[in-house]
Amino acid sequence: MDKQNWELGTQAVQGEYWPDNAKARVVPLEMSTTYRYDTCEELAKVFDLEQDTNMYTRISNPTTDILERKISLMEGGVGALATSSGMAAVSIALLNICKKGDSILVSNTIYGGSYTLFTTTFKDIGIEAIVFNPDISEEEILGLAKPNTKLIYGETIGNPLANVIDFEKFSNVAKKLDIPFIVDNTFATPFLCRPFDFGANIIIHSTSKYIDGHAVALGGIIVDGGNFNWDNGKFPELVEPDESYHGVSYVKQFGKSAFISKARVQIMRNFGMTPSPFNSWLINLGCETLHLRMRKHSDNALKIARYLRDSNMCEWVKYPGLEENQYYTLAQKYLPNGCSGVMTFGVKGGRDSARKFINSLKMVALVTHVADSRTCVLQPASTTHRQLSDDELVACGISPDMIRLSVGIEEPEDIIADFEQAFEKCR
Ligand code: PLP
Repeated sequence: MDKQNWELGTQAVQGEYWPDNAKARVVPLEMSTTYRYDTCEELAKVFDLEQDTNMYTRISNPTTDILERKISLMEGGVGALATSSGMAAVSIALLNICKKGDSILVSNTIYGGSYTLFTTTFKDIGIEAIVFNPDISEEEILGLAKPNTKLIYGETIGNPLANVIDFEKFSNVAKKLDIPFIVDNTFATPFLCRPFDFGANIIIHSTSKYIDGHAVALGGIIVDGGNFNWDNGKFPELVEPDESYHGVSYVKQFGKSAFISKARVQIMRNFGMTPSPFNSWLINLGCETLHLRMRKHSDNALKIARYLRDSNMCEWVKYPGLEENQYYTLAQKYLPNGCSGVMTFGVKGGRDSARKFINSLKMVALVTHVADSRTCVLQPASTTHRQLSDDELVACGISPDMIRLSVGIEEPEDIIADFEQAFEKCR
């Protein structure tokens, strides 16, 4: 059976692990930093990238390898690299092709941590973030690009605004500029959206979110679509010999997997943002139920969004699954299986009411997280987006009264009952 043709749910459960006779049925946890070799000659081949086996866990590990191959299969990529966190995935993916003197085109409706990374740390090392509103036209985005622009970056579903990006527009910009389109697919997961089908070249996930799904393990992953020609004169670091690695040319040696191979043997080897094999094992276990959970998250979220829309205590609610939402049409096109579990809303009475509402919740918890099985809330202006100035907050569409809600997989009646009693306290 060709596992590329399996349904996504089957890939999530069984993808890329089949035990040998009488071996563990469940993905084994190989908690080892090192690997034994019979001869110096054999180990030398691994160092020379001639033999694809493990040498040291900072670079690869058998348990992590199964997770990487599974997510790559689910996204339809040519290879993946798991990382210690989502931020590590974002950093490695971008530093793989950007250096001092380059610029990047970045949507401004992205996770606050990524936004801060691009606009401060990257700035400090000489990489300029050209920030744009993802709803502007293709021509306007093209007008912002510079000759040194190396990529365009967005999130399938933005955190926290739950806006959906127009993949066709992003992909057209990338093609016209001959640069890769990198997308953070954390909130959609491959179950709701497969960005390579819509022109993306590199996918990033914070696996700490839905892919783990249980809020037990921090992690990230980069998936390579193998669908970008790096030998176009703009990315010499993938074509020219890498003196730091025995003069290898990634494009020549690895072909379609050049990007992800360089990310592993150069950036990961040097920075070491490696996941623990135990985290990879936990994330793989969580991933086995991804398809079941994403259905339930999306169904629940739609019910809760409708409840909030009809509640006289709620000022506004933004969820791309609601017909009246600005992103409904894009969601129908790119997220036909559901719109995931994240939405934002405002409580009548503004900032103070929002705080009172959150403080009154009894089952729904206030946590710095989203996208796990338990429903949770957070006020972005005082937490995730705290570093941003008022002007930046407004530019990113974050209002002081905004509550970010991540709908879990409990039964929706109980979430609504908790909201009802909390709203009562705000009257
Ligand atoms: N990307 C998105 C969309 C996120 O929501 C987050 C974290 O919330 C990250 C990346 C960073 O991931 P991590 O917290 O695993 O470093």
